[in-house]
Amino acid sequence: AQKTVLITGCSSGIGLALAVKMATDEQKRFKVYATMRNLTKKDNLVEVAGNTIGNTLEIKQLDVCSEASIKMCVSSIPNRRIDILVSNAGMGLIGPIECQTIEEMQKVMDTNFFGLVRLLKEILPDMKRRKSGHIIIISSVMGIQGILFNDVYAASKFAVEGFCESLAIQALKFKLNLTLIEPGPVLTEFENKVFEDGMKMDLSATDEETAEMFVNIYLKNYKQIFETLGQTAEDIAEHTVKIILAENPPFRHQANALYTPMTTLKYADPNGDLPIDTFYKMIFQHDKIFSASLNFIKLLRWKSKKSFDLGGTSSQ
Ligand code: NAD
Repeated sequence: AQKTVLITGCSSGIGLALAVKMATDEQKRFKVYATMRNLTKKDNLVEVAGNTIGNTLEIKQLDVCSEASIKMCVSSIPNRRIDILVSNAGMGLIGPIECQTIEEMQKVMDTNFFGLVRLLKEILPDMKRRKSGHIIIISSVMGIQGILFNDVYAASKFAVEGFCESLAIQALKFKLNLTLIEPGPVLTEFENKVFEDGMKMDLSATDEETAEMFVNIYLKNYKQIFETLGQTAEDIAEHTVKIILAENPPFRHQANALYTPMTTLKYADPNGDLPIDTFYKMIFQHDKIFSASLNFIKLLRWKSKKSFDLGGTSSQ
């Protein structure tokens, strides 16, 4: 039978690509509820989804920051049946913490972390009753490892990961699957918006050294990192569908094989110093080595095939 899928944040990026990929499945295995906070932003999805709309795809309003909106959306689905939930909506925030307001930080936590909590409070009880369901969360490699000037964003994804690790044990008892997809950099609106907000940031609240570090090191290398390591939203959608169709979906799946050497450092040193020292040296002591490694990765990438092996890229 056709599986129902609810995806959040479908007006752009990964959510949009995934909704379209699943709705255009040749075997019509999925009925997709592509949701978004603001329905006036549905044009891009409508254009790409074409005649799947009204067939395998329906667009619905859902704001992950509003319990009422989640309730209304879930209640409008026949028998409230959601077989696969993809929690994708999210936002970024970069820069020195002294230049960010607590309100801005709370918005990130409210969207990225409490957004997931609100969804599960509404959807998990039904899945537990039915003893079936797959919850997919678009987390990030920053849910495993912090990165310079991404303090609050990384904290929000760490919160997601801790929450899911705890919940996964209960989920197993109810025969539910839970998977964290951990992309590295992805070329979407997200990356553009975060960069532009960073460029516009008022840095007067921080000291000169920090401001210089943010502008001349972080922002300077930002685009190059995305160009070198960046995947497309379609790549992440492809990984996600493979995970959904897997017989035994893993708890964690890192979507970017080029990034796994960095995350592996975390698991290699129980003291936690290795990844921090490595990032420090890459950023502050070996700026040239950093550029050289990015060039080397570019070369590898160019030589490597586009296809990927799920077994080889899933994390330990
Ligand atoms: P995106 O900005 O294109 O998509 C995020 C979507 O979430 C947008 O459509 C936005 O409108 C929506 N959204 C924001 N607040 C919402 C709310 N309150 N309710 C409902 N929808 C809301 O960026 P993306 O890269 O496709 O991001 C999708 C997910 O992937 C996010 O969770 C993000 O943290 C994660 N991610 C992105 C990257 C990256 O580099 N782009 C890397 C790793 C993980």
